[in-house]
Amino acid sequence: MHPQQTTSALTACALALLVATQLFPSTAHAQSSVLSKATRTSPSSEPAVLQPAQEAAATAELAALATKFGKKPNIVWLLVDDMGFGDPGCYGGGIAVGAATPNMDRLARAGLRLTSCYSQPTCTPTRSAILTGRLPVRTGLTRPILAGDKLAVNPWADELSLPTLLGKAGYATVLSGKWHVGEAVGMRPQDIGFDEFYGFYPAQKELTQHVDKRRYPDLVLNPERLAMLDRTGGSEALVHGFKGGATTDIMEIDSTDDMAEADGMLKEFTVKKIAELAKAGKPFFLEHAFMKVHADNFASKAFEGKSASKYPYKDAVVEVDAYIGEIVAAIEKAGVLDNTFIFLTSDNGPQRDSWPDTGYTPFRGAKGSAWEGGVRVPGIAYWRGVITAGRESDELFDLMDLFNTSLALAGATASIPTDRYIDGIDQTSFLIADEGHSRREKVYIWNVADFIAMRMYEYKLYMKIITTDAQWLDIDATTEHDTGLSPWLFNLYIDPKEEYPVGHRMNAWLASMGAEVNGHRATFKQYPPKNIGLGN
Ligand code: CA
Repeated sequence: MHPQQTTSALTACALALLVATQLFPSTAHAQSSVLSKATRTSPSSEPAVLQPAQEAAATAELAALATKFGKKPNIVWLLVDDMGFGDPGCYGGGIAVGAATPNMDRLARAGLRLTSCYSQPTCTPTRSAILTGRLPVRTGLTRPILAGDKLAVNPWADELSLPTLLGKAGYATVLSGKWHVGEAVGMRPQDIGFDEFYGFYPAQKELTQHVDKRRYPDLVLNPERLAMLDRTGGSEALVHGFKGGATTDIMEIDSTDDMAEADGMLKEFTVKKIAELAKAGKPFFLEHAFMKVHADNFASKAFEGKSASKYPYKDAVVEVDAYIGEIVAAIEKAGVLDNTFIFLTSDNGPQRDSWPDTGYTPFRGAKGSAWEGGVRVPGIAYWRGVITAGRESDELFDLMDLFNTSLALAGATASIPTDRYIDGIDQTSFLIADEGHSRREKVYIWNVADFIAMRMYEYKLYMKIITTDAQWLDIDATTEHDTGLSPWLFNLYIDPKEEYPVGHRMNAWLASMGAEVNGHRATFKQYPPKNIGLGN
């Protein structure tokens, strides 16, 4: 045996031992590695990188605004469904992919454009995580709730939602648009803390499969099957509900033409509501959740053929972009733009399974995937006069951070629960301080009940790998594997498409990141996850 072979055999053995002891121990303890700069300030909160100077600057700025306006700031989230990282022009899409996005681009130019903003891989997990500040595996909302799903327990029964906490802090709270986090009584937006809900419980596809005979002929053209589908009990209505009050169906989606106009109706509601909310005394939290651009997209009359591409998906991007412009204009017309924090994002990567009715991502994978294409989404923070125009940052932001950040803006940080683990981090100072740095050091990427990967700095470590067995079928044809001798480690700066793992080359990082992985795992020992019957 040559000496060199002996060395490499030893290295391989050492690496295997490292993998066994560092990444998959039987008793994990919270620990941090030489890589970490974060501080754990309480057992129930995610360690944060403390930034005292910018935190002081942000606190002073918020205090000055409160004096100027005599009111806490309004909070507006614009949540697009399934929009790809590569769809907005300000992220390299726009006219380059046949759908101009002048309004999104304007917000980015006038605010802060985030390039490492992370969602969960699918709708329900993201939508529940941003309202609880908690990973889906903790709340049990680990995958989309589908028609016919029978949940063992109501996950909301013991969660403390953002609208509940903001309501206690004196905010009016409204959700306009898509919900997709449960439609049984007790799980609807108007039951979990929102004062008012105007929108649809499921995603567009759940609605169009009742009426689109071209895509679903086996359902729509077969009365018996259609009756079976109806008996799964999903709502097909535009719903208007009030906290503690009546919930009424405004209209049913009876055709693809109805579906095409849904976002227009939601936008009309939101624009009117903004005028009302601005006149009323309270600050407000408004989540406007678009139905588009989730498949199946049907062009509304006003936008058909308006994209250069002419494809329904692209017309939908142009429509959503126009409505973003109208909603921001409504906030300005109501005279409250200078006291309103706006955040624009997407709830997951593009749903490539429905190509060509899908967006674009430059990264590996797509919706449903733990690869960057599934979870790295556009993230634009805009606040006129507060966030300096033209800022850009690649530092880490997890959409769950919106939970803590919104409560901080409302002066209600003290209401963040301490009897359960909160994965969100207050990023107020990152977003509003000039030259602000992220207080987040790591993003943990879960797929249903499995901890798949962790991003830290420009590195991403995979404990498990999900491969796609048919091209672009990132949801419908995938297999989950354990990694082999080495966990897979990518450097996203030199390999943004995650094609060339460098774990063996960077084995000091494997040990350190393994310790960080263990620290995250240990939080589940102290705060056990909830199983609601969706798969844990
Ligand atoms: Ca989605």
